[in-house]
Order: sequence, then C-alpha cells, then structure tokens
Amino acid sequence: MSSPANSRIFGIAAHIDAGKTTVSERMLFISGVQYRPGSVDEGTATMDYEDEERERGITIHAAAIRLPWKDMSYTLVDTPGHVDFTVEVERCMRVLDGVVLVFDVSSGVEAQSETVYRQALAHNVVRIAFLNKLDKVGADWEQSLDSIRTRLGAEPVSLQVPLLGTDSGIGLADLVNRRLYSYTGSRADASCRVSNWPEHSRDDWEAARETLTEQVASQDEELLEHFVENEDVGADQLEAAIRRQTLAGSILPVLGGAALKGIGVEPLLDAIGAYLPGPLDVSLPRAKRETSGEDVHLQLDATLPIVGQIFKLVTTRHGAIAWVRIYQGALSSGDQIRNTRSRKVERVQGIQILHADSHESIDRAVAGEIVAVKGFKHARTGDGLCSAKHKIVFPAWDFPLPVISMAVEAKKVEDRDRLIDSFQLLESEDPTMGWSYNEETGQLLMSGMGELHLQVLAAKLQRDFHVEINLGQPRVAYRESLSAPYRFCEVFSRKLPGREVSVFLDVEFTPNPDEELPVIINDLVAEKEKGLFLVLKETARKALETELASGPMHGFPMSQIKARIHSCRASLADSLPSPEDLELALNLLVRELGRRVELSILEPWMLVELTVPEDYLSPVLGDLQAKGGSILQVEVQSKLAEVRALVALSKMLAYSTRLRSLSQGRGSYSMKLDRYRELSQEARKQLLGLA
Ligand code: GDP
Ligand code: MG
Repeated sequence: MSSPANSRIFGIAAHIDAGKTTVSERMLFISGVQYRPGSVDEGTATMDYEDEERERGITIHAAAIRLPWKDMSYTLVDTPGHVDFTVEVERCMRVLDGVVLVFDVSSGVEAQSETVYRQALAHNVVRIAFLNKLDKVGADWEQSLDSIRTRLGAEPVSLQVPLLGTDSGIGLADLVNRRLYSYTGSRADASCRVSNWPEHSRDDWEAARETLTEQVASQDEELLEHFVENEDVGADQLEAAIRRQTLAGSILPVLGGAALKGIGVEPLLDAIGAYLPGPLDVSLPRAKRETSGEDVHLQLDATLPIVGQIFKLVTTRHGAIAWVRIYQGALSSGDQIRNTRSRKVERVQGIQILHADSHESIDRAVAGEIVAVKGFKHARTGDGLCSAKHKIVFPAWDFPLPVISMAVEAKKVEDRDRLIDSFQLLESEDPTMGWSYNEETGQLLMSGMGELHLQVLAAKLQRDFHVEINLGQPRVAYRESLSAPYRFCEVFSRKLPGREVSVFLDVEFTPNPDEELPVIINDLVAEKEKGLFLVLKETARKALETELASGPMHGFPMSQIKARIHSCRASLADSLPSPEDLELALNLLVRELGRRVELSILEPWMLVELTVPEDYLSPVLGDLQAKGGSILQVEVQSKLAEVRALVALSKMLAYSTRLRSLSQGRGSYSMKLDRYRELSQEARKQLLGLA
C-alpha cells in the first residue's frame, strides 16, 4: 500500500448504458491489471462477475478492485446503474472519497445520473465528469455541458477540447498541460500518442485554455492573483487550483473519450490522481465512545485502535466476505474485532485485496484502505467495527423500507428450512431485502425495492442457494400510519404465572408525514439508577421500533409517525421497571393504539421518469393518466420526449411489458419511491376484501 496521499478510493456512477462498466474495464486493462479488456457485450466483463449480471449485461452488485496507476494506488468501487439498486449506490457513496460521473455525450445528463449526482452531493463525494461515447454520431460536447449546468446545477469546466471526425481518428487536446492525445487504430487496441500542440491549432487551444483559467480563477483567489498580474499560468498552478475547487465542489472538471475504443482513459486516470481526494483530504465519519458518549475524532493513523465499517457483505460458498473501509488503525489477520451493532467480538480469519472475482491475501491492512475480510459470522451491511478494548459506537445506516413483495414457496417441502436460511443470508447482504412469514396462511413473503430486485433475488435463491421455488405475483408493500395524534398516560398490566407486570407509560404518537421511517424520541430522564437506566433507554427504543415494524391494524410496518417516550415507571414499586416488563408494556400499548385511533393505510407512490420517441408520447401519457397518475413534466428534445410523473406503484406492476407494447419497444423508464400516500377509501375497501 502506498501512502494515503497517493491513494484514491473512487467510484464510477452513471445512468444505465452510459458506459460505466466499459470505463471500469478499460481502466483495468490500461493499468495492466488485466491482459485484455472485458466486454459487456460479450459477457466477459470482470467487474460484472456474477452470472446474473453477465446474462443481463448490467452491473447489479458493486465490486471493489485495486489498480496501480503510475506511483499511485487506486481502489475502484463499481456501482450498479439500475434504480432498483440505488441503495447499492448509496451505501457505496458512504465509503467513496471521489466519483467519476460518466455521461453519454450524445444524450447528456439523464434522469438516473441526476439521482446519482444528488447522492454524491449528499455524501460529500468529490466529483469529476467523463463524457463517454465521443465516437458516436450525435456526440455533442457543448450540449452535454449545458445539460450539466441546467440539470445538475453544477459548474462544468472543460479540461479538454475533443477533436472529432479528423482523418487520424479521435483526439483530445489537454488544456492544462498543453498536450495532445491522438488515438489511432479503431477497435480495442487503439494506441495513444502524446505530443505537443501542433502549430496550426495552437491559437485556438490557447484561447480555450484562457477560458478555462478564467473560469477556475473566478472561483479561486490564489489563481486569480496570478491571472490578474497577467503572468502565464503554469500547468502546476492551474492543476492545483482545479484541485482546490474540485475538492470544494465549486467546479465540475469535465474530460471525454470513447471507453469502448480505449480513448481518453489515460487522461481520466491521471485526472483521478490530480483532482479526486485522497483519504487525508476527506473528513472521517463521527463516532462516539460507547461508555461515556464522548465524541471520538478518528484519525488516519495506523498506530491508533482500529475503527472501520462494513459497507457490503457478500455470502459465498466459503462463508461471508465483508467489505471494510478502515478509517483508523490497522487490521491484521487473527485480530479480535468488535461489531458496534451486535456487540459481538469476532476473529478476523483472513484479509484480501480484491481483484474482481479473484483475491490476493494479505496479513495486514491500514487506515485509508478498502479490504475484504473473512470470518465475521454476525455481520450486516453498515455495521461498524472497533477493537475489543476501545469500544465505540457508530450512527446506524438507515435504509428505505421495501415497497414490493412476492410470495415464495419451496417446491419441495423438505427445502423449506433451507429457504428460510437463504432468506436470512440474503437479508444480511442486502439491507433493502426483507422477508416475513404469515402464520395464518403459512406463506413466506420476500420483499424488495422493485420487480427487478425481486427477480434478481429469486434467481439468486435458485442458482446460489440451490432452492427450487415457485413465485407468486408481485404485490405492493403497504404501511400503516396515524391520522391524528394520541397520547397514552396510563398503566399497562398483564398477569403472568406467578407475578403481575404493571408499568406506567407516558408515550405520545404524532403523525409525521415528512419521514417514512418511524422517529422515536426518548425523553426518559436519568435519575438514580444510572446503569439500569442506560439499558432501559435502549430497551425502550428497540422495543418500540420492533412493535412499530408490524402495525396494530393489519401488521403492515408503521410509517410517517413520531413516537415520544416521556416517562415510564414500575407502577407498583414506583421505581424503574425491568427491561422485560417494559418490553411487554410497550407491546400492549402499541396493540392498544390500533383500537383507540383510526389508522390509515399508506401505499407507495413512485416518481416515474420515462423517455419515448415523440410519436408514442400521447398513448403513453394517456395510459399514465388512466392509472390516476399526475404528470409533472413533459419535455421534447430532438424528437425524444422525457416525462416525469407520479403514479401509485400498484398501478405500475409489470409496466415494462406495458410500455414496450405502447411504444413498440422504443420507450424506457425508471422509477423510485417518491413517498407513501394514504390509500383512497375505495382502494382500501378492495385491499381489505370489503368491496
Ligand atoms: P453501463 O450500463 O453504464 O455499465 O454501460 P456499459 O459499459 O454496460 O455500456 C453500455 C453499452 O454502451 C454497451 O453496449 C457498450 O458497448 C456501449 N459503449 C460503452 N462505451 C462506449 C463508447 O465509448 N462508444 C460507443 N459507441 N459505445 C459504447
Ligand atoms: Mg454496467
């Protein structure tokens, strides 16, 4: 491992089909990790190593891979492009320091790249852009810059001038270093020649360089001073200013190429080193000491106690592999490591550097690295790791609740237990997957973020876990919520064999339409019994969380609700209740909630973004309206219409088939959860079988 200053942890993110996987594959090839470039179209891409991905030609699960570049060490984290997997993108964002946003230069910024961009912003991931497919007819550099400005609200700065359609192929004039990259030969083996600027183009490119310098200087005082004094701005000065402003997020550096032909990938690799942050440049997550609650300021120092985080878990035939970003300290094979969520201590059985599907074992990894760790049996995605002695806590990651579910049944009765085991493994890998068992019907339900997500999970069950299954129809995942506030201020009792539980609870529920997941506010105030009190506070929160996960009316998870625990007492002894009694009392309280207040049923509404040729626009719009959807926006550009609409998910099941027939296969769409809304009386009756 080279020094942190020389390492980069970055991702590549884009709209599906913009060329993310092709760019990644090219990087591996050019940096010498691989002998020949993998091809998405032939199903040989190294990054898309799971069979499912090869078959579908899309990247479903992220994979991290080390690649050396000049004197630097890069770790590339590949992220999926389909919206059903945005959570995959989201969790990768949390451990990435930088991201290359890949755009198709013939279509500019598309819906999904907008989402990814916002996610990168939200997680302070530093961004540069790559305009791919310069070889395509219809490549339009300026228009792509425009769409970056208008759709992303970013300030793009071209670091290159693309030369298209010249006799000698595609070229890129590097404005910072005054170099020219010329590419000859067409297919996979396009070779790159670097030269100085030729005489005949020099004036034009100097002018473009001046524009770039001006743009950067308008954001950067240091560069502005040089510029105003009319000194020639050297490559080093310009590069340093671009780096400062990229890290600050005030500009978005733009490079280009055609990854399929290997064009523009070397300059892109250079730009990653030059402009994306190293582990030293980014702020580390917050952690607290477990016992005192004090803040711990993590430091990129290998001699301090270990702190890390699992951002992905993969179950394989040889056990689980946890992908860990190490924030502080060092991790060695054989170490005892504490999981900050489960509080279990587990032994590190092995550490590996990943090379897509093959692994190189190492003995020790240090702060600033991403490695794969073997040996954790109780880990889940998002878990924090610390040393067994220096206990810390990490804020837990929130994941959206699944919006869709499907009945799953083992074809052979004897496979049923294996099916449940497999669900548990899948769930620990994928926090957006859920499963449940309906005692009344005996049915097993698997839930997820969309139809594709469920299909992928089902395929995994059959292929990786060898369980033959029958699948039901996809169904929308409903939720319950409150229509009005309600406050309990009373004693909850129950007779148990040999004793009576009796707990006074003051708990207030209010509707909270702005947040999907229940918010629990714990106002219990510490009094005498401090040790017990800390345990109780945690018990109260956990118990309420568990109770709200299956609502009192129909067992749907409760949503858009705020619960405030004001106080609790053991009503007979007038002291604190035991944790077990408190749990039982909260269970009674939530059941009671369903009797006292009218609960509403919520259903997911999706933000649908679709593109169709203008000719098919009216049937597509008509169909969306017939589904009760509201059209937010319709934009037509060069005969292609883009539509944004809100539609209930229940109306969008099997929409891919529908859109195909409405647009003769020319339309494409994506959707993501907008928010949960109350079900109409009509739909409610139907759902509950009262109609
Ligand atoms: P991803 O979905 O973003 O991972 O995109 P892929 O890498 O899977 O590429 C999608 C399609 O675009 C594939 O058919 C690629 O061969 C094609 N493609 C990728 N890069 C280029 C390029 O530079 N030029 C052209 N013309 N096609 C490309
Ligand atoms: Mg891909």
